[in-house]
This record gives sequence, structure tokens and C-alpha cells, in this order.
Amino acid sequence: MPSFIVLLGPPGVGKGTQAKTLSERTGLAHISSGDLFRENIKNQTELGKLAQTYMTRGELVPDDVTIAMIRERLGRPDSESGAILDGFPRTPAQAEALDVMLQEFNGRADAVPYITAREDVLIERLSGRWTCRAKGHIFNQKSNPPQVAGTCDFDGSELHQRDDDKAETVKRRIQVYLDQTSPLISHYRHQGKLIEIDGTQSIEQVTQALMDALKKYPS
Ligand code: AMP
Repeated sequence: MPSFIVLLGPPGVGKGTQAKTLSERTGLAHISSGDLFRENIKNQTELGKLAQTYMTRGELVPDDVTIAMIRERLGRPDSESGAILDGFPRTPAQAEALDVMLQEFNGRADAVPYITAREDVLIERLSGRWTCRAKGHIFNQKSNPPQVAGTCDFDGSELHQRDDDKAETVKRRIQVYLDQTSPLISHYRHQGKLIEIDGTQSIEQVTQALMDALKKYPS
């Protein structure tokens, strides 16, 4: 049965970084809704144009559009044995849609790791974050600097600051998370799936905590 891992947590807590590592270690596909939107923006698709108007303001893209995009992505062959969901669901309506989609794909989400950190830590991390243009590898000028400033360690591409990582938008994104995404914490806690992980530990410690937590679930 396909196994899905839903990574929950505020922007800047390290979901993207951890999802990439978990994907390598488990062999499950990494599905990042933010990356899918950014890919559409790069390719100037209609979806990209629409998403951009919300993303630059730090707002969420409407549920129907987001759900349709994820539904299409989950239908691709590399998600057949499951996936790590990074940034989706982000609203109660998306969580409900995911439950329905998983039933359709005959899959299940047993584990919902919830990575936490205080707001001042998130703001500091997001404003010091550098992202690679080619594949979205993530660095941080303080906690995880690249070996050569401005260059991705993995593929040599240029590092840039995401528009929505600028200070004013970061605050808006955290507020949107508190208003719209945090209700999912109690939703998954009630289902007995939530695993809380301290996101202020080192990247390696968070990975270890995630791997330890996931061992408890059948693959
Ligand atoms: P992220 O890379 O996960 O921080 O997402 C960047 C931006 O993409 C968010 O601030 C939203 O504008 C949009 N986005 C990503 N995932 C979702 C989602 N599940 N629902 C709505 N908007 C999303």
C-alpha cells in the first residue's frame, strides 16, 4: 500500500531541506507544492501566472487550484509507492481533499511529522536563506552556508534569495500559517498521527529524529 508522509510546520522550519533528505533515504518521491508553483512560474504557464499573484504577497494560492495540481502530481508513476508531501496540505479543505485522494490511490498517511520552532528563529532563518536556481537546494548564511558563497554545493548553480523570503513577506507568510495551516495540527493529532519534532536542533539531528519516528510505522 502506498505510504505518504505529510510534513507539517511553519515556513522556514526546514521542511524542504528535510524532505529532500528523507526522499533520498526512503526512496519516496518528494512533492513540494511550493516547488511545483515555482516551476510553473519559471515556465510561464497559466497556473504559474495565477500562483505568482498570491505568492508574491505571501498569501495561499486558492484551494481548488492547489488541489488540482497535487492530484495531477500524485497520479504520476513516481508516486505509485507513496510520497513525502512538503507544503501540502496547508488548509483544512486541502487536508480533506488529501484524505479523499489517498482513498482513491489506495494509500495512507500514517505519519505526520510536525517540525516546530519559535517565530524569531523562523524569521532569522528565512531572511538568511539562499536557494539554488537549478533544483531548489537550500542553504542558510548562518546555519548551513554553501562552501563557495553564492554557489550551490550540489550542482554549482547560482544561489538567490526567493522574493517571498524578503522580510515583509516572511511576516505575512508566518501569519497566514498561524491562521490557515495551524488548525491541521489538532486535526492530525486527533487522528493519532502527529509526531512533534524540535526544529531548532541541527539539520542532522532533525533528520535522525524524523528517521527514528518513521521507523515506528510500517513501510
Ligand atoms: P513554500 O515553498 O512551501 O514556502 O511555498 C511558497 C508559496 O507557495 C506559499 O507562500 C504559497 O503562496 C504557495 N503555496 C505553496 N503550497 C501551497 C498550498 N498547499 N496551498 C496554497 N498555497 C501554497
